[in-house]
Amino acid sequence: MKTELSEKLFQRASTLFPGGVNSPVRAFKGVGGTPRFIARGRGAHLIDVDGNDLVDYVLSWGPMIAGHCHPEVMREVQDAMKDGASFGAPSPKEIVLGELVRERAPWIEKMRFCSSGTEATTAAIRVARGFTGRDDLVKFDGCYHGAGDPLLVKAGSGVETLGLPDSPGVPADVARHTLTAPYNDLPALERLFAAKGRDIAAVIIEPVVGNMGVIVPGPGYLQGIHDLCKRHGALFIVDEVMTGFRLGAGGACGLYGLRPDLVTFGKVIGGGLPVGAFGGRAEVMDRVAPAGPIYQAGTLSGNPMAMAAGTATLRLMTPAAYQLLETRAASLAEGLAAAAAAAEVPVQVNRVGSMLTVFFSSTPVFDAASARQASGRRFAAFFHTLLLNGVYFPPSQFEAAFLSTAHTEADLEQTLRAARAGFAAAAKLEA
Ligand SMILES: *Cc1c(COP(=O)(O)O)cnc(C)c1O
Repeated sequence: MKTELSEKLFQRASTLFPGGVNSPVRAFKGVGGTPRFIARGRGAHLIDVDGNDLVDYVLSWGPMIAGHCHPEVMREVQDAMKDGASFGAPSPKEIVLGELVRERAPWIEKMRFCSSGTEATTAAIRVARGFTGRDDLVKFDGCYHGAGDPLLVKAGSGVETLGLPDSPGVPADVARHTLTAPYNDLPALERLFAAKGRDIAAVIIEPVVGNMGVIVPGPGYLQGIHDLCKRHGALFIVDEVMTGFRLGAGGACGLYGLRPDLVTFGKVIGGGLPVGAFGGRAEVMDRVAPAGPIYQAGTLSGNPMAMAAGTATLRLMTPAAYQLLETRAASLAEGLAAAAAAAEVPVQVNRVGSMLTVFFSSTPVFDAASARQASGRRFAAFFHTLLLNGVYFPPSQFEAAFLSTAHTEADLEQTLRAARAGFAAAAKLEA
């Protein structure tokens, strides 16, 4: 497989951008080697600059749920562009997407659009602090909520892959207001609330974790958190940046019957263009400026092209589309588990809907500590074998692979053929 042009571009990029990339997980730090430069995407495939055709399970880290260049999404965005790229004044497309969001997730009584998941979580935390008059925040070890200061504590994938526990540049005074607890451990959270409950403004969580690899919440765990929040006067923030409109029309909240105070969105809600959103109970959201005193703003918020891409993408995601994703993802997960078993490599295939991770571990993975037991060496061998066989998996053991409605049976067959070779390569290495 030719990689000459990617290598040349990476050299040039490395003189321009730290580590050669504009977001850390794009570099192949966790698996070694040179990242592929992508020339274009079509459906479930990427074509890199050397002309290699790759089945894409990264999907821009989630947003491309309908595949690349879906004709309806392209048409809506192109039409929007003809009317002007941005106005900095209200425009009708914001209402169309907003109503669609509220129709699918009625617990979002009011919302605000912004331009990224990071903006959404940063704002949601400010709102929770402003609403409760408290400063402390609880997050879970291994959950990632964007690159905002208060959230870069025990923050999963990017940091996990690089082996950095925290980020320099986050003031200790900020980090000390971020309390952490292990995921899937309600008693630990109970103890935290017992000790600090009066200072806790909010608990934020990835309802299904994607950012330390896929980790499934135990039965009753998420509702248990909400109950604890209510008892102690803290807000419950469900970060659906990855799961929103991916795990179903109502996201993880729909799947698990949650009615949180605040929800954050990103990724799929923009269909590949920069969109984020935060929303929830009207009583809370009405404290946001200009209705209330808690400030939040954005020059490009509600951008018409981005709204058009999000609207077109959500409209494509019908119940039948979610059913298709579920069927395909289940069959992929089963196929991967069977291929690993045949190669005698112990793995845990964690999956919810169209998000899955193959952990190279012989014991169940249910939190950050158990995820860290997985073998990065075996994963790297698996990853590179897949890539050489035309399958682009996320370049880190601690990330979710995603399916789109554009993945075909033939794509899955190719993936499983590559995976058989990948597990055989991994089997040759010590764990
Ligand atoms: C990706 C992600 C974010 C950050 O979103 P950006 O658009 O990259 O800023 C926040 N929370 C979760 C759960 C994510 O997966």
